[in-house]
Amino acid sequence: MTLTRRDFAKLGALGLAAQFAPQLHAQANKKKIGYAIIGLGRIAGHFMPGIRNTTNSQVTALVSGHRDKAERLADQYGVPHSSIYSYDDFDRIAENKAVDAVYVALPNSMHAEYTIRAAKAGKHVLCEKPMAASVADAEAMIAACKAANVKLMIAYRCHYEPTNLKAVQLIRQGALGQVQAIESQFGFNIAPGEWRLNRKLAGGGPLYDVGIYSLNACRYLTGEEPAHIAAFASVIDHDGRFNEVEENVSWTMKFPSGIVASCNTTYGAPMEGFFRVHGSKGTLEAAPAFNYDGLRLIADFAGTHIDKPNPAKDPYQFTAQAEHFSHCIQNGLAPKTPGEEGLRDMRYIAQIYHSAGIDI
Ligand code: NAD
Repeated sequence: MTLTRRDFAKLGALGLAAQFAPQLHAQANKKKIGYAIIGLGRIAGHFMPGIRNTTNSQVTALVSGHRDKAERLADQYGVPHSSIYSYDDFDRIAENKAVDAVYVALPNSMHAEYTIRAAKAGKHVLCEKPMAASVADAEAMIAACKAANVKLMIAYRCHYEPTNLKAVQLIRQGALGQVQAIESQFGFNIAPGEWRLNRKLAGGGPLYDVGIYSLNACRYLTGEEPAHIAAFASVIDHDGRFNEVEENVSWTMKFPSGIVASCNTTYGAPMEGFFRVHGSKGTLEAAPAFNYDGLRLIADFAGTHIDKPNPAKDPYQFTAQAEHFSHCIQNGLAPKTPGEEGLRDMRYIAQIYHSAGIDI
């Protein structure tokens, strides 16, 4: 992750500057990594400004079904119109030397096809979460990237975000004593007509989309993998939105140490994304924990009270994430959130659905 002086000052305020200091020197004098953005929707609209703020990455190609939108964005980001591809002629990207990597920002079930086509074109892949619509697709993506000898990273931006990293650091340092229990949640009230409500495109409902933040957070907060999972799912609003995917999922995970995590996700209510960790010596919560900015960490342990709003503004998480992947490509390193990390979540999602009685 590459940092500007201003970012470094912000991390300093959160007590995380030292963690990133070595990379300040490693990033000089390397060719910038060129990205093709596949899918010019909402999340691409955060990622592209994020890339612009990096020192080691740039947008060099666009892949879209809407030529007019692509041309507008190409002009904004200095991308030649000859580097705009449609979904049909995407494979020609193999010949484009300005493209080192692709960023897959398509509906979930399309991640596998474009990751595999990108790998065959010899490009590294940064793929949005959830990694895929099924465990089998996630496995095929890992296999294709291995066969092509390209890197695969899943865009779990919270792994590159200082408030979340600070929470992990405090827990690992033992500030909270023995962690006993975690609560986490994330949801929103979905509008009708979204591809997220189409099972074929989304794979599933809010668990795939935003519940995955809680699932993943419980794993990075504990540093453990869940040993037992039990879940319920429901549809309350029979208003046509939930004919194909669930509206609510509530699940519990028991970790090998005995830590128990309770999580909720919904497409039926505005549910702030947060986590709260209860330890024998104190508590810690991030609320909100998963937003693009405005994060806040509150902790109480051993007479210490922390209340730290994170002042960084969107798209800083996207900058950190792109910096990390480009740094890995430039230096032959393994990304912190590789395909295998995405696959693990896909497997736990399948277990949660199985326990809730949902066929996938
Ligand atoms: P979006 O609907 O805003 O954008 C999707 C893009 O895919 C659009 O440009 C659309 O034109 C294109 N597309 C191509 N074929 C399509 C088809 N058959 N149906 C619908 N769209 C099609 O979606 P989004 O919110 O940007 O989500 C894209 C991906 O990013 C999803 O996998 C989502 O889970 C992920 N995401 C991640 C975050 C994050 O914070 N990391 C946030 C939001 C979304």
